[in-house]
Amino acid sequence: MKFPSLNTQILLGAVLGIAIGIGLTSIGKESTTTQTSLYIANLVGTLFIDLLKMVLIPLVFASISVGVANLQAHKQIHRVWISTLGFFVFSMSVAIVIGLLGNQLFHAGKGLQLDMFQNAMSNFSAKQQTPADFFTHFLHGLFMNPFAALAQGDVLAVLIFALFLGVALVIGGERYKNILTLLQEFLEIVMQMVRWIMTLAPFGIMALLIKLVVTQDLALLGTLGKFAAVVVGTTLFHGVVVLPLILFLVTGMTPWHFWRGAREALVTAFATSSSSATLPITLRCVEHNLHVRKEIAQFVVPLGATINMDGTALYEASAALFVANLVGIDLNLTQQLIVFFTAMFAAIGAPGIPSAGMVTMVMVLQSVGLPAEAIAILLPIDRLLDTLRTAANVEGDMIGSLVVQKFIHEKS
Ligand code: ASP
Repeated sequence: MKFPSLNTQILLGAVLGIAIGIGLTSIGKESTTTQTSLYIANLVGTLFIDLLKMVLIPLVFASISVGVANLQAHKQIHRVWISTLGFFVFSMSVAIVIGLLGNQLFHAGKGLQLDMFQNAMSNFSAKQQTPADFFTHFLHGLFMNPFAALAQGDVLAVLIFALFLGVALVIGGERYKNILTLLQEFLEIVMQMVRWIMTLAPFGIMALLIKLVVTQDLALLGTLGKFAAVVVGTTLFHGVVVLPLILFLVTGMTPWHFWRGAREALVTAFATSSSSATLPITLRCVEHNLHVRKEIAQFVVPLGATINMDGTALYEASAALFVANLVGIDLNLTQQLIVFFTAMFAAIGAPGIPSAGMVTMVMVLQSVGLPAEAIAILLPIDRLLDTLRTAANVEGDMIGSLVVQKFIHEKS
């Protein structure tokens, strides 16, 4: 019998994880079988994420510095920079507009009242975070002692230092060629480790999904059902229709071709709710399955995992309108524009970890005078919604690398 491909195994793991999770929930959360299974699932799932995180920082460091050095050497760096950032801003803008329109259309939150949630809100106090504070904090976090950033696992600061290093390597040219070779070989070794970790992915993903299904209170979705449905619907619309359409129009690649190559990363993003943890797998999918040239993938994908978040941007905009409806305020056009820009910043500034969007959400709410405490209402269902929005975030990064490759290819 032929062993199924890793891709199929990962999909099987995901389906089995959800099925087992539902099975265990029906036995009862308190039963010994459920508790023991949950313990094992937690152990395996955490171990899988730990392994991904183990390679994450070395990977970002090596891949960005080598990626920039190789690009710079091709004299294409400007074009890559502009098309990458241009694509990120464009796709996030589209996502936000979809989020705003979706909520306008379905009025999620109308009819509910904020005092219905008073209990949740009284247990929660939000840190004041104006857009200006947020911006200062964001800029301040960019530049750090690289050793501290590496040790603390601060992806954004590592990324910035690696960018500098990449540029310096090229400007130094021949003089530093040994260091460049060293970094290149180091990157190959890290990718080899990623390959090993990937063989465990089916089990890791199964375990994470069992845990998700058993520990989440699905009944909660009922209360906020309409909002959750709008978020899920619009995120799916963005991920299944809009992004693939952009990809098709720019590169001619069909959605099925894309999904076949991207599936491992999408399922991992769904199960881990973390674009950062998924990054090693995203990079592998893009290079090996979708055939994006190394130097482009190594630059666009890690950058995207840190700043390009379509799903998060869409969610933040949609949630802001939802809260406005709860409080009974109609946001006018100017206020919606403010939401547009702050949601974009909030998405860029959110680190690629579970529920990060919830933290930056505070800024979006406060920018238009909505009560930040209202996230207490959103938090209980966040873990569930985070699955899909993280998958959309990662999909945007992969499509970004294909689009940028096409732009570069045509111009060179
Ligand atoms: N979990 C998301 C990610 O890692 C960030 C978010 O909370 O929106 O991409």
